[in-house]
Amino acid sequence: MMLSPFINIFSDVPPAFFYVFTIILGAIIGSFLNVVIHRLPLEESVVFPSSRCPECSAVIRPYDNVPVVSYLVLRGRCRNCRTPISARYPAVEILTALLWGLVFMRDGLTFALPFDLIFVSSLVALVFIDAEHMILPNAITYPGIIFAVLARLAIPYFSSPYVFDDFNSLMNTSMASWPVLLVSLAGAVLGALAGGGSLWLMGWLWERLRGVEAMGLGDVKMMFMVGAYMGWRLTVLTIFLAVIAGSLTGLAIMLKRRERNLQMLLPFGIFLGIGAIFALLFGQRIVEWYASQFIG
Ligand SMILES: [Zn+2]
Repeated sequence: MMLSPFINIFSDVPPAFFYVFTIILGAIIGSFLNVVIHRLPLEESVVFPSSRCPECSAVIRPYDNVPVVSYLVLRGRCRNCRTPISARYPAVEILTALLWGLVFMRDGLTFALPFDLIFVSSLVALVFIDAEHMILPNAITYPGIIFAVLARLAIPYFSSPYVFDDFNSLMNTSMASWPVLLVSLAGAVLGALAGGGSLWLMGWLWERLRGVEAMGLGDVKMMFMVGAYMGWRLTVLTIFLAVIAGSLTGLAIMLKRRERNLQMLLPFGIFLGIGAIFALLFGQRIVEWYASQFIG
């Protein structure tokens, strides 16, 4: 009851305001993700010191650090030395802004909203770091796994366990008599096994059969995080989407370069990350449509 005046304030605010606010905040977070993407693989602090031009080391002034806008004003060049700034910077800012808008469209003003926003943002960082350095840093995946477990406890406790896509399927098993938080945690473990566990097994089998390393452990840890957070259904969809997108991209590159060597390494984390974001935003509808084909 104490909360109701608070909610009433929000109910008078037009929804468009929240969209604009979320999208602008997303662009600012995108700007921070650029720092993470640039510095984390170099093992530099993401907070200190302030950003500098990688070419001439001139400190980037706050007015030159406005997401997207500064890039346009400066026409993509450093104010000091005129060296072109990578298009990745505005691209990450625009992408994060759009994704924040889409997550808001899906969640609305709910308890799960900040969790989903953090989850999607960390996936954006992982995708771009993997694309540039072919690594998925532990500094993101380890806290990501802990984050997923905390979300699995906090969201059912303060809001509803049905926020998680897998909860309904778990309640159709003998788990139905368990305490809600335990079912939610079991869902995290099951999802982590479906994600990280299956990838690890595939890599192990591949190594046995071909004698070469197929996949880094970074992918496995990333999928522990994704699986624990999203549950087994959306995780299976994520891997399915990633394998299709990865194979098609690999084929396209092979055809273009007329290469026949299948052993060419593509950073699979990119496809897993994109697949996970897609599955979070639209996966529930896809999974339910798929399931309905067998029931109806
Ligand atoms: Zn410069």
